[in-house]
This record gives sequence, C-alpha cells and structure tokens, in this order.
Amino acid sequence: MMSCPLLAEQYKHMSNIIGIDLGTTHSAVAVVDSGFPIVLANAHSKRLTPSVVHYPSDQKAPKVGEEAVRMRTIAPDRTIYSVKRFMGRRSGDLSDREKEVDYSIQAAPNAPIQIQIGEALLSPEAVSAEILKSLKAAAESAMECTFERAVITVPAYFNDAQRQATIEAGRLAGLTVERIINEPTAAALAYGLNRLKDQSKIAVYDLGGGTFDITVLELNEGVFRVLSTHGNTCLGGNDIDQAILNHFLSVIRTQSEKIDVTQSEEALPRLREAAEQAKIALSTETTTTVELPFLTPDFHFKLELTREELQSIARPIIERTKQHCLRAISDAGIRSEDLDQVVLVGGQTRMPLVRERVSEYFQCSDFEETRGDVRLGDSFHTASGPELNTGQNPDEAVALGAAIQGAILTGEMSQMTLLDVTPLSLGIETFGGLMNVLIPRNSTIPAKAGEVFTTAVANQKEMLIHILQGEREKAADNWSLGQFVVSFEKAPKGVPRVGVQFEIDANGVLHVLARDIKSGKEQIVEIKSAIDVEDHKVTEMVESSVEHAMQDWDARRWIENKLKANDLLSAVTQSLSDCSEDLEPDYLELIQEKVDVLKGVLARENKENQSGDVDALKRAVAELDDATQTLAQIHLDKITAEYLTGA
Ligand code: ADP
Ligand code: MG
Repeated sequence: MMSCPLLAEQYKHMSNIIGIDLGTTHSAVAVVDSGFPIVLANAHSKRLTPSVVHYPSDQKAPKVGEEAVRMRTIAPDRTIYSVKRFMGRRSGDLSDREKEVDYSIQAAPNAPIQIQIGEALLSPEAVSAEILKSLKAAAESAMECTFERAVITVPAYFNDAQRQATIEAGRLAGLTVERIINEPTAAALAYGLNRLKDQSKIAVYDLGGGTFDITVLELNEGVFRVLSTHGNTCLGGNDIDQAILNHFLSVIRTQSEKIDVTQSEEALPRLREAAEQAKIALSTETTTTVELPFLTPDFHFKLELTREELQSIARPIIERTKQHCLRAISDAGIRSEDLDQVVLVGGQTRMPLVRERVSEYFQCSDFEETRGDVRLGDSFHTASGPELNTGQNPDEAVALGAAIQGAILTGEMSQMTLLDVTPLSLGIETFGGLMNVLIPRNSTIPAKAGEVFTTAVANQKEMLIHILQGEREKAADNWSLGQFVVSFEKAPKGVPRVGVQFEIDANGVLHVLARDIKSGKEQIVEIKSAIDVEDHKVTEMVESSVEHAMQDWDARRWIENKLKANDLLSAVTQSLSDCSEDLEPDYLELIQEKVDVLKGVLARENKENQSGDVDALKRAVAELDDATQTLAQIHLDKITAEYLTGA
C-alpha cells in the first residue's frame, strides 16, 4: 500500500505497484503515473542502474549500481556482477564459462550456488535483493511515497526455480512480488501501448548483457497473446565483450611475450571494461582508441579498434540468434511477412550490426540505417516485410512493461490483459514409456488440462504419475519434473480410472492433481523446483525434437502398435486355451501360423531404439485379428453358455 497521505490527492491516479526489470547487467524501475508509464531515475539521475553490488570490507552497507561499478577493478572479489545467472541454479546447471566471474562462488555438487565475500556466504537472492532495495528506494525518493508491491520481469526461459528465486529476492527487499512476467512480453506491452494498431503481430528481439529472447506476439483488440517464444539464457553482450577481451589478449601477446596480464588481478577487469566501452563507442563511431596506462606496472596498453574489426568479432555471436528467430516464426505458425513489427529490446541492440542482421533475419522492409557498406542478399528487400522498430531506449521497455502490468493488476489499465505461453510441453508417462502431452508447448497460460487414465495390467492397485517436460515422443528422452503414486482398489485391467489434471498458474508454476475417480481421493503436487532442468537446454530440447522427429514418430507408432499386438496375442492365447478342443485342426493351424508371423515381427524389434517394421506389424495384427473373428465368437458363445448354465 502507498502510505503518503499528503500526496494522495496528487498521485491518486498512480499505480501503487512498481515495475522492475531486474537485468543481468542493468536494472530499472518504472511506475504508471496518471496513466503514463515512466522509468524513474536513481540518485545519480540515471534511469539504468548497473546490476552490481559491492560489499565493503568494513561491514558497512553494500553499495549498489554506479558506486559498485567503480569498485569492480579495485575490489573485484567483493564486487558482484551478473548475479542473475546464478539465481535458482545449482552447480550442475552451469557451464564452466558461466562460472567464470571475478569473484568467488561456492558450487558444491547439486547445491544452490553461493557467493563468497571474505568469510561470508551469500545467496544470489540476497545479492539481487540489494539491487531491488536500491531500485525501491530510487522509486520512493522520485515519487515521494512508499512502495511495497512490485511486478518483476524474468527471461522467458527462466524455469520455475529461477522464478521462485526472483520472488524470494523481492521478499528479502521488502517487496511483495505480485507477478513475475517474461521480459519480451513486458517489452511488447510497453511498445503496444502507443505504437500498434489493433490486430497486429510483432516479434520482440531482446539481446541484453547475458540473455537472448525472441517472442512472437499477437495484439488483438487490446489483448496480447504470445504465439511462440524462444531464446538462450547464455547469449548476450557479455559474450561480445569476452570476444573483444580475447582479441585484446592476443594483441598484448604479440606486443610483448613477457607480459602475462592474465596473472594480474586488476588487469582483466580493466580490460573487460575497456572492451565494453569500445563496443559501445563503436555503435556511434567508426573507430575508437583503447588506452589503458599501467595495465601492469611496466606495460601500457593502447589499441585502435574499428567498427569493421568489431563486426567481424561480434558477427558469429549475433548470428547465433538467427536460428531462434526462424524457429519462433515457424512455431507461431506464420511467415515473417505476416509480422507487422520487429521490436528491438536490450542495450546490445543499439549495435548497428545487430539491427542489420535482425532486419535480414526477418526480411524487414524499411531498414536503411547501415545499408551503405553491407552487401545484402537478394531476398533482403521485400516491400511487404515487417517494420523494424528500434525504439528510443531499447533497455527501458521491459521496466515500462512491468509497470504497465502492475497498473493492469490494480485495475488502472483494465482494458488490457496479458497472456503468456509455456516454453515446453508438459505431460505424463504412459504405458510403453511414451510421453502423453497434457499441455502442449506454446500454450497460453494460465492453462488447465486433464485426461483420464486407466491401468494396463490386471490387479494393479497403484499408478505412477511421472510428470514430464519436453518435446520428444519417448518419456525417457524428456525431462522428469517429478513423480508420485496414486493408489486405488485392486481391479481388473482397464477398470480403475484416474483423472490427472495439470494447471499452470499465472506465474508459470505447475500444479498436478491426480484423483481416483471411484473413491474421489485426490493428491496434489506442486512442481516448484524444476531445478534440475537446465534452462539453456530448452533450445536443445526443441532442436533435438525436430532432429529426431521422424525417428521419434516411428518409435511412437511402433510402441503403440506393439501394445495393441500384445493385447491381441494375450486375448488369442486365452481363447485358444479355453476352446482348443472346439476348433478344427486346419483352423487351429491357420491361427497358429498368424500368431507366429506376428511374434516374428515383434521379435525383430530393434530393442535399443524401440523401433521395428510398423507396416509389417500392422499387417500381422490385422491378419490375426481377421483370422480370429470366428475364434472370438466361439469363445464368447462358450463363456455365455457357461454363465447361463452357472458353470
Ligand atoms: P540486461 O537485460 O542483460 O541487463 P541490457 O538490456 O541492459 O541487458 O543490455 C546490456 C548490454 O547492452 C551490455 O552488454 C552492454 O554492453 C550493451 N550495450 C549497452 N549500450 C550499448 C551500445 N550503445 N552499443 C552496444 N552495446 C550496448
Ligand atoms: Mg534486459
């Protein structure tokens, strides 16, 4: 609640929920004031606050933002940056490169990552809370009132554990996190407010310091709907900085074999900072000079870097976003010319090369800026392509969108609602080891779906509900999110009925409910820690599903037909043993022959990848089924007669 009685009249139209973009490299805070979303400046009059926290050795209060950045070269071991990459993650989730930071982290196997400052160990949530506290204070001083509620954004591919960690960081900062929303969705919301006509389709390309997201959205009569989302949480401007840094190091090596700056604790952070500064300068200049006096006591570093050189260093990194863009378009079921706009978000999209490449990926029609010296492919210019929307401040859109979402929640902007989607399919394992999808990938959330399952074996008295996430046909190829057992009364095969319901709430948390329909007994499991899921593997998962599509499809057809075949075989065996004396020897021989053919096809199964000749299997099943029609009738008559005579 806002507690500013004197100002209540003046600010009565202001939403009392702040919107926060808690970024890997920069964070920002915004509010909706009298219907207008605005980004608020910090004590240094800057609207972006570096997501850097310095812990002074004298136990004084931590410094955040600009002041902390200044300490990065002086006390790198007590100055934490890019903490977002550690949020809600365990050692096993992180690649070696991700663990490479200038401060110490504790990464015990399968335990949450901790940040080491001197003797003390801090959680990433606690470090992020310092950033949030500082943004909260900035907002309060700018608006002269208190804020206790916030909407915070996260990358679209953040898994549940990462979202929960973000909520916890908010709590530690004294904020109630009303909603977690995806960054590209927030950005789209910010752009959508004033720029789009109804019935538009847009793609949001967000390249920040440490994450990349691409999302396709549809705006229809004031309602946003996410059509698809893709991305990589380990791809961003930091990678370009690192590549420039590597370039610097190789230049230094050629300048003097004796100098090994990698041995100097201060030199590397200084070089990295210079690399980023050069990159930023080259967004507006065509050449820049990097100068670092006394990089080591007896070495001065000086280098001239041109935009062209930077582009050849950065190009392969930017190019890695292309496949995600193409896939997002195809997942949305559209072609790039169906898009009205491609919106650029994130500081890194200020780089001219990024704009040029993105406009080519989406075949944008109106891109003029850097055309002069680049050779463009034939397909580049299509009059009907989408417009490239670079916006004024690509790094502020996310915070603005978060504030707008806050205003939607308080009812101030009730004309707009916001829908999100699931990045991967969710389902359960069924008999035969197959994935049964309940909520397909890219479903709009909140989402709810259910199905009734039964047993495949007689006298079963419990059923394992194995919750899966992924795009592959076989359960084992997907990720396991958890499992639990539902028990019920012992009954013949196919009799027990268990209803399974999946519900994803507005924050993306999955609730699984299983109910034994006969007794009404139910069990609810909340999947909070999809912690073992490495979110950067989402992309790999989708890619592998495409790559293995044919093979997976064959496996599914094989397994389903095999189950049918086994059912038929056991029914035939039962009938034969019950009525063999009632059958003509010729008929018996015919059935035996068909049974042998079917068993033969099954025996030729490739056990390793559970596949086989599906067509031969289907033929053999059909022939046995045909041949045993008479047997089935005889069997049924016999059972009926026995029943009537009370046998
Ligand atoms: P995040 O969302 O990860 O916090 P931002 O949207 O703030 O990231 O983007 C930060 C990235 O943008 C950094 O890698 C930074 O170097 C880069 N960046 C910021 N301004 C520019 C610029 N003018 N030209 C090129 N890159 C820039
Ligand atoms: Mg960002």
